[in-house]
Amino acid sequence: MKGIHQKILRINLGNGSHRVEKRDEAFYRAWLGGRGMGAKIVYDEVPANADPLGPENILFFAGGPLSGVYAPATGKASFVTKSPATGGYGDSNIGGHIGPELKYAGYDALIFEGIASEPSLVIIDDGRIEIKPADYLWGKGTFETEKILKNELGEDFQIAVIGPAGENLVKIACIQHDFGRQAGRIGVGAVMGSKKLKAFAIRGTQDIPIADPENLLELSKKAFAGCFKKPGFEEWTPMGTAGVTNWANENGAFPTHNFRTTYFPGYKGINGEALKERILKTDKGCFACPTPCGKYSSAAGTFKRGGREEKFEVMVEGPEYETIALVGGNCELATIEEVAFVNYVMDDLGLDTISGGVIAAFALECVEKGVLTKEQTGGRDLRFGDLDSVIYLSELIARRQGIGDILAEGVKSAAEKIGKDSGHYAIHTKGLEQSGYEGRNAPAMMLAYMTADVGAHHNRAWAIAYDIAVGVDVMEGKAERVVELQHIRPFFDLMGCCRLQWVELGLELEHYTDILNAVTGCGYTWEEMMLISEKVYNITRMFWVKHVPDFGRSWDWPPPRMVEEEVPTGPSKGRKISVENLNWLLDRYYQLRGWDNNGIPTAEQLRKIGLHECVNDPGLRNL
Ligand code: SF4
Repeated sequence: MKGIHQKILRINLGNGSHRVEKRDEAFYRAWLGGRGMGAKIVYDEVPANADPLGPENILFFAGGPLSGVYAPATGKASFVTKSPATGGYGDSNIGGHIGPELKYAGYDALIFEGIASEPSLVIIDDGRIEIKPADYLWGKGTFETEKILKNELGEDFQIAVIGPAGENLVKIACIQHDFGRQAGRIGVGAVMGSKKLKAFAIRGTQDIPIADPENLLELSKKAFAGCFKKPGFEEWTPMGTAGVTNWANENGAFPTHNFRTTYFPGYKGINGEALKERILKTDKGCFACPTPCGKYSSAAGTFKRGGREEKFEVMVEGPEYETIALVGGNCELATIEEVAFVNYVMDDLGLDTISGGVIAAFALECVEKGVLTKEQTGGRDLRFGDLDSVIYLSELIARRQGIGDILAEGVKSAAEKIGKDSGHYAIHTKGLEQSGYEGRNAPAMMLAYMTADVGAHHNRAWAIAYDIAVGVDVMEGKAERVVELQHIRPFFDLMGCCRLQWVELGLELEHYTDILNAVTGCGYTWEEMMLISEKVYNITRMFWVKHVPDFGRSWDWPPPRMVEEEVPTGPSKGRKISVENLNWLLDRYYQLRGWDNNGIPTAEQLRKIGLHECVNDPGLRNL
């Protein structure tokens, strides 16, 4: 098999050693790379009772066989770990250039093990591996840290860093790279912080072995040309994901006021047009990306900080749609400049803007409903629509100060600690805060959140477009569509490339299989790729079964607000999905997957797809 080096670099931060592990080709053929390879390794290596922030957890990082190869958007890579945010399986995707650089350094994957005795920096320069003290960086924001390291090591190093949130083991902490690309959601930054790893830097000069270079060149030229010809290229690229804001509002799917409603009357102040006309400076893309969705913006304004007038002026990559939805609509900020400022502050602190926005809105609603008192919030008046409130909460969370220490655990744990009615305002599934598409008027999207293997994340199956295409009242076929999307999407993460050219432009999937085969020489069929995806989805499910003693159907249930409250305003007014329909969707989904009615994969299903290691795992319940 080509496209790989057959080398996995393992760095033990506990004893300062490193080694290169060689796995056979069958392993690569079976799991490819990214979250496929990572899911298999964390399943095998992380013990069931391991503390996600303890020495037994590992932090896996890899692109895939296409990383760094000449083909559209081959700059994506995945971190995989036991999530401190949920206690279950976790992975997180990142763009930029660091995935390809690892491949150029001669490694298919990188694994951090153990815990360093002091803040550390790891340098990977081809075969030279160095672990250095990083006390001088500890406490610094992500932007300053990356800038210092670029100056010290050189511009040609690709660098990943954490901010104060990761250092303080905040469970929604990100890893940041390339001054604005994040691996977010499931707390990978906290895992890096728990290992006292402030940053790692990679530079490489190795070739990537390619099975059929001439064919690859032809196929990739065709795929790039295909992207440029698609109608979506002219329509979608100028605003990137921010362009989705109008669509989400017009379809009653835009989280507003902590998901109380799904339409934000002020959306024109924070939408893609506002970004393009008022703050956009230039586009920024990941490695080999033909459709750069990163929008570099410059925003300025004033706000009252603790009662005093203060100015802000920031340059930031973004805001992209999810930040606009969860920081903008969900906290009801009025202008794109305000959203950009929060985006900058959260990026610098190393906080995920999706979970960060949901947690801030949760706290604001708790204050509004009298569940949190002024005394508990440090004497401040906190309210929706107030930039100062969102900035204040972000800083408290990242530094674990005051109420921020409770909120830093995520909305699920925070609600358990705060008590009263706060559980009703905690919008999450499996402990992960929900992304920026409402599901009460979109049954397939709701099911996608319920069954996403990392918690309520949109990127496992962006099924809302299907809901709108076939009708929001239709239930038949929706579970099938969610399973199908949950199988197509990992395909990109396993190869190491971006899926947006397929999702947004409609670039044909055949391009990807042809390119993968030109690189690897493996002759993968589409059916074989989908079987790999199915195995990934089942091994991650089994990770939950192994690590969470009471794991089952109740973990797939949406938060109370989604089930009990009708949408009060906007195009989805009066809508919610009945409990009967949710159960019907879940039953159908489990049936399609070959899982029992508690959502546990059956031994028969595991054997059928070749996951014998899960059936035979002594740590599992009796299957
Ligand atoms: S579309 Fe966006 S996320 Fe995907 S590779 Fe291009 S810049 Fe990166």
